[in-house]
Amino acid sequence: MKKNSLRYRGRFAPSPTGELHLGSLVCALASYIEAKQNKGVWLIRIEDIDKERCRDHFATTIINKLLEYGLESDEPVVYQSKRLNIYYDAIEQLKIKNLLYPCVCNRENRKKYRNIDCPCLVNPIKHTNQCAWRLLTNNEACSFNEVNHRHSKILSKEDRINITRRDGLISYDLAVCVDDATQNITHIVRGEDLFNHTFVQRFIQESLRYHKPIYRHLPLVLDDNGEKLSKQNLAKPIDVSFDCLTLALTHLGIYKPQIYYGSTIQSSIQNIIKSTLIYKLNEFD
Ligand code: GLU
Repeated sequence: MKKNSLRYRGRFAPSPTGELHLGSLVCALASYIEAKQNKGVWLIRIEDIDKERCRDHFATTIINKLLEYGLESDEPVVYQSKRLNIYYDAIEQLKIKNLLYPCVCNRENRKKYRNIDCPCLVNPIKHTNQCAWRLLTNNEACSFNEVNHRHSKILSKEDRINITRRDGLISYDLAVCVDDATQNITHIVRGEDLFNHTFVQRFIQESLRYHKPIYRHLPLVLDDNGEKLSKQNLAKPIDVSFDCLTLALTHLGIYKPQIYYGSTIQSSIQNIIKSTLIYKLNEFD
């Protein structure tokens, strides 16, 4: 990216499969603080494409809780479930470029053919309702920039990038890439559980000739058993309190008690943005 050529645009993209927990507050806060320290725009996007796992009321409570923390989307909140046509257009573009192949392999088969070509690649099949669409990979290195590092990985055929699943559901990776591109997101701050997805997403971005955002992957918040806090393992919902804010800021290494004693949570976060320089990026100086 050329210096100052783009305005910083960041986002927080929760899946409403449960309440906001400490891990999601950490990601929301870090992405918000980085966006605001770089005079950028911060957006909320609700990733509710998987209707079996997502619930509308969780989306509402997540947005409301973020608001109580003073984390308000600078543009109207976008819902993936309302953008299916945009994803289908992107899938059409990939088909036109001959970058997709139909595949009927289930999870077991995918394991079986982990190190060899899947039969659907060796003897191409016709697409039916039971097929997934997968992206052809080319054994070339795929790289992305983390704020201070460059990461590379070879994506091989065996990586089997899903674009749609066998039940027709659009993949998380495709939807995220389309959204980050259409929302002109320049910087993505999210948990390091998505680190490997970033290679896949970079490959999709390159296949669709999208611009390439810069990433920051955050250390995960773990529970007492060393497991990642997630809505799936029923992580405890957080309340809106200085205690939770302190826990989140401590996890991010930016806790400074003298900054926010005596003020509201919202004004405390604004004070942190003004006073803590760790998220200031050079190209936005
Ligand atoms: N929706 C994903 C989640 O809640 C995050 C996706 C992203 O930040 O790219 O884990």
